[in-house]
Amino acid sequence: MNQEYKKEQWPQGIKAALIDMDGVLYDSMPFHAQSWHQLFLDLGVTNSNPDEYYLYEGMKGSDTIGLILKRELGKDTTEQERNEIYAHKTELFSHCGEAPPMPGAADMLKALKDKGLQTVLVTGSAQKSLLNNLNRDYPGYFPKERMVTALDVKNGKPHPEPYLRGLQKAGVDASQAIVVENAPLGVRSAKSAGCFTIAVTTGPIPREAFEKEGADMIFPNMPTFAKWLNNI
Ligand code: CA
Repeated sequence: MNQEYKKEQWPQGIKAALIDMDGVLYDSMPFHAQSWHQLFLDLGVTNSNPDEYYLYEGMKGSDTIGLILKRELGKDTTEQERNEIYAHKTELFSHCGEAPPMPGAADMLKALKDKGLQTVLVTGSAQKSLLNNLNRDYPGYFPKERMVTALDVKNGKPHPEPYLRGLQKAGVDASQAIVVENAPLGVRSAKSAGCFTIAVTTGPIPREAFEKEGADMIFPNMPTFAKWLNNI
């Protein structure tokens, strides 16, 4: 059941679109979920469930590691340990192969550009492979000075810092930017930064989770969102 949004619901005076990467620009979340699952199995977490990791999407990897190891094994970890474990997760992810561009994402970017919006990447990822692919798959949309990655922030999503940095890089106020997200914690981060936030539910998480986080619009997939943008 998809709600029909009216043209008038699109906010006025928007100058920039802050765009998440995994699950928005790339269909990489199944690979991430599988890599997290394998990682925690390797670390002795026996009741790991791949679907759970969609809930933590957007968080810095080291934060997810700290959370699961504390909860499941009662284990405290140092930042260095978490970083080493995260390096292993990165390796598992790289073995999954190359994540394909998300269908409809290129159309969405073109529609945003046609409206005169500048595009800024805001990702919790530090995966070099994906970051390098951006230029190839979406040329011209994300020059280096308009990218916020895990390496640029102290606090990951759901903290507002990543999106606040994105606003800074775009040189606009929160009232002049929209955010495109696919994860509940990403929506929380964007809303905390004060942005009009569009959730595209590209994974297994139900629509209600995004309503709860205060998403301003929710679309079931990227082609539907791109088509809607082209019609307003
Ligand atoms: Ca995401």
